[in-house]
Amino acid sequence: MNKPVDMQNIQMVPLWIDGKHKQAAGARSGEVTNPATGRVIRRVPFCNAADIDAAVQSAQRAFPAWRDAPPLRRARILMRFRELLDQNRDQLAALITAEHGKTLADAGGSVQRGIEVVEFAMGIPHLVKGEHSEEAGTGVDTHSLRQPLGVCAGITPFNFPIMVPLWMFPVALACGNTFVLKPSEKVPSAAMRMAELLKEAGLPDGVFNVVHGDKEAVDALLGHPGIRAVSFVGSTPIAKYIYETASKNGKRVQALGGAKNHAVVLPDMTASAADLEFTVEGLMGAAYGSAGERCMSISAVVAVGASADPLVAKLREKASQLKIGPGDGKDMDMGPLITRAHRDKVAGYVDKGVAEGAKLILDGRGLKVTEHQDGNFLGASLFDHVKTDMTIYKDEIFGPVLCVLRVDTLDDAIRMINANPYANGTAVFTRSGGAARKFEREIEVGMVGINVPIPVPIAFFSFGGWRNSLFGDQHVHGMEGVRFYTRGKVVTTRWPDANAVPQGFNMPTLG
Ligand code: NAD
Repeated sequence: MNKPVDMQNIQMVPLWIDGKHKQAAGARSGEVTNPATGRVIRRVPFCNAADIDAAVQSAQRAFPAWRDAPPLRRARILMRFRELLDQNRDQLAALITAEHGKTLADAGGSVQRGIEVVEFAMGIPHLVKGEHSEEAGTGVDTHSLRQPLGVCAGITPFNFPIMVPLWMFPVALACGNTFVLKPSEKVPSAAMRMAELLKEAGLPDGVFNVVHGDKEAVDALLGHPGIRAVSFVGSTPIAKYIYETASKNGKRVQALGGAKNHAVVLPDMTASAADLEFTVEGLMGAAYGSAGERCMSISAVVAVGASADPLVAKLREKASQLKIGPGDGKDMDMGPLITRAHRDKVAGYVDKGVAEGAKLILDGRGLKVTEHQDGNFLGASLFDHVKTDMTIYKDEIFGPVLCVLRVDTLDDAIRMINANPYANGTAVFTRSGGAARKFEREIEVGMVGINVPIPVPIAFFSFGGWRNSLFGDQHVHGMEGVRFYTRGKVVTTRWPDANAVPQGFNMPTLG
């Protein structure tokens, strides 16, 4: 239960429109809680259509001048923004931990991964260069260019308050677009701080705006005729809804959804104590880091052949030693879950796994964290002998629950993963180059790790899954991000001169 709220001292998070704080017109609002204490720390406004319109209009006004700024000038502002993010790294991590709950070290790591996208976007003068064909026909040259779209919107989830917005807006802004961000209403403050840092970096007012809220705000964005493109990251049902609604309204969309990520362990990795240690150490962070609230978390380990028994024994040993407590506590491995309701839902999945006949090897349900009775804590749980028709395998749990499934061969493992509706990330653990190559070629998943349990691509590549983990064609950041936030144009040029080929009535062949 949340502690009683002292309404006098609880501040309402403002919006960021036209380069300044603004109060929302919408009458509805929600609570932002610290997951480690259960206390309400802020209130967040739920924007209505008038608030969204104000933000979009601000971005529309700012667009022509920003579009016309040379890419190098845009890049220099991003360079200053990158420095400010770096200088404010600890403060940003603390904001994430206060509203999300993850450990400070984990929060800091996510800020770093976001900074890397800014570093990628700083190369924009090079990234938007077109192509040129001299003498494409007699006396005719052809060149291509990429131009910004206009106002773009970003709608982001609770689990990466800094990194996921940074997957989107640095690339969008670098390309010459203006932006309206709607962060998760559970973690609204980090986006506001980034808006202030962008202004400090020299970004013109109106180029970047922040609105808050729930479905009402999102629907207003999806229906607004001024928005040209929508980037979304969140759960699969909402991603599908965003993709369908925004597409129907004529917008370009990339909508990244949920996940069920498998790690396959081949028997060669459990044959020596050192390789077993290496594998399980990797799986620990991948399964239980950020309390399992990552779209790239490993939630299913597929143990091939003889690997299963030693693997499960070692997983149990390590998982039972995890240090769980407030994210700002000393040397914590895992913090609380985002809300009490989500904590109870995840605990309910553990109940369901037991009821459906999986073998519960480690039970995190009874965990008590001293002096944090009202925090949303749940210990690490581990299941063995999980089957593909069980709810704990089929659903994205998004919590510290790891399922081990046993199969006979690598082919069985690949078949299982390719049949799963989600396809965000996956990994194989082996010393065999041949097995790894087969896995890489045959697996139908967007991001693949070879002995790398969380294969989040660096910012210079693109991030995104397949099947129900992504609706749309273009992944985020890297060159696919640049393509998403620009559209191509091809120009064919001829100048009159004495040798010009006469223009006729027939289909021109330019020869
Ligand atoms: P969510 O889908 O509940 O919310 C995401 C965003 O959508 C939020 O801004 C929220 O306000 C908005 N939203 C929620 N309900 C809505 C509705 N009915 N209509 C319109 N908008 C709505 O997701 P979450 O709980 O914040 O985040 C966790 C989910 O995000 C997990 O499923 C996780 O796998 C996924 N995720 C995916 C990736 C990826 O890259 N594929 C990355 C991070 C998180």
